[in-house]
Amino acid sequence: SSLQSELAAAIRTIENYPKPGILFRDITTLLGNPRAFRRSIDELVHPYAGTKIDKVAGIEARGFILGGAVAHQLSSGFVPIRKKGKLPHDTVRIAYSLEYGVDEMEMHRDAITPGEKVIVIDDLIATGGTAEGACKLLKQMGADIVAACFVIDLPDLGGRKKLEALGVEVRTLVE
Ligand code: 5GP
Repeated sequence: SSLQSELAAAIRTIENYPKPGILFRDITTLLGNPRAFRRSIDELVHPYAGTKIDKVAGIEARGFILGGAVAHQLSSGFVPIRKKGKLPHDTVRIAYSLEYGVDEMEMHRDAITPGEKVIVIDDLIATGGTAEGACKLLKQMGADIVAACFVIDLPDLGGRKKLEALGVEVRTLVE
């Protein structure tokens, strides 16, 4: 569609970042483009316009930028999901798989009230390990995950299937 091609054109590809052989999809060019940024947020938001979303959970760090804008537009609260050790109050923590090895992410224990409707936001889904960790953490705290939404899908890496296996609906804007 025209939206997909506009967003694709606004995303910069960096070769050999952060490691040799990796093609990094850089969204700073999309964020810096007023029209592409607005269209991305509008497209992430529109299925939920007029429905009650209690919280938008954004995954550090690019999920904070997109998720903050989405939360504002939906009049929802915002919940940061962060790398371990960054949040000041009582946290719940989960290990998640990276391409090589594992890491841990956290959220505040009181960030979600059981039964709240939550949307998860990040810039990109690859293997889905990061978003799977976030969704498991949110479910442990009783969240009702309405969807996990990403600007970019790397479909060959299987992230969508990983989240769908958890019962989470996945929405992406561009492959
Ligand atoms: P996954 O856990 O799905 O394999 O990787 C997705 C996570 O890594 C997301 O938090 C995303 O921000 C980051 N990530 C992995 N590859 C890229 C990339 O090419 N571009 C960007 N912007 N983020 C990436």
